[in-house]
Amino acid sequence: MRGLIILFAAAGLAACSGSEPETGEEAAQADPAGVVNVYSARHYDSDKALYEAFEAETGIRVRVREAGAPQLLETMKAEGARSPADVIIASDAGALYRFQEAGLTQGAASEALEAAIPARFREPEGHWFGLAKRMRVIVYDPERLSAEQVDQYTDLSDPALEGEVCVRSSSNIYNLSIMAELIERAGPEAAGEWAQGVVSNFARQPQGGDTAQIEAVAAGECSAALVNHYYWVRLAENASGDRRAVAEATAVSFPSFPEAGTHVNVTGAAVAANAPNKDNALALIEYLTTADGQEMLTMETKEFPLVEPGVAPSGLEGFTGIQESDLALSKLGERQSEAQAAFLAAGWD
Ligand code: FE
Repeated sequence: MRGLIILFAAAGLAACSGSEPETGEEAAQADPAGVVNVYSARHYDSDKALYEAFEAETGIRVRVREAGAPQLLETMKAEGARSPADVIIASDAGALYRFQEAGLTQGAASEALEAAIPARFREPEGHWFGLAKRMRVIVYDPERLSAEQVDQYTDLSDPALEGEVCVRSSSNIYNLSIMAELIERAGPEAAGEWAQGVVSNFARQPQGGDTAQIEAVAAGECSAALVNHYYWVRLAENASGDRRAVAEATAVSFPSFPEAGTHVNVTGAAVAANAPNKDNALALIEYLTTADGQEMLTMETKEFPLVEPGVAPSGLEGFTGIQESDLALSKLGERQSEAQAAFLAAGWD
């Protein structure tokens, strides 16, 4: 199947490169099946292949605007009711929540999506749908720590790890979401104590992205860091031996919350509040839950397929038997402002 998809991609790239979202009669004449305007916070070559395959299967023309999630959100606010956006694609349930909270999504009903996607991975009223999974893990130095020392998120606040922990900024949505889960599970007081414990274990002030945390562990600057799993997998699968060496110097733990599993988050999609092409929007989101859609959505990002575990990308083979948290991800957004307050109170900038 993969060979066929790549053929579509090669044939289609020239045909629609540079297509920006648009509405109007010209577009309708050129594309009898219509268009779907996608505002995506992702930027992967594999997504181009994905849109080409969807176009080939449905005749619906995909027009894409790619930018960071905060920028897309501001763009949509400025466009208001005239926004051409049909589908919003963003990573992290906390980021999807921000679009919903700003009134930029609509509750969409789809029997296909409700059947394909477990309830905890979609917003209860259909304001967004999770499509691919990511786990927030601890990457550690196996020469300095045992696996048992980092098999719980709470281990990061253990005094045994003093001066050994690297993290990124607390304003980062991944950190806000994991803190939101801890508040949901343990309550704000315990969550705040955890954050204070982690701060007292800092090897350095929060800085850099997730990959930079892994690099710091490999370089011996710290011995444990909190990152999303796929950053490690991308290093482990990298064409460059130097990049692979960074992963090889470290190990991955899928930690648990107390009496729960590993923090799971999603890349997901929403139907825009004023979608001019709502049916096409749902057709695209439904396509993303098919085996082809799931494969292309995850092959480059190294996320876990959410609907079709059989199409997992290379590099995830070693990650078996993970116990996933069963939290409904809509809770992460609801707890977001509490999470930020807890971080700042603890001095985690
Ligand atoms: Fe990421």
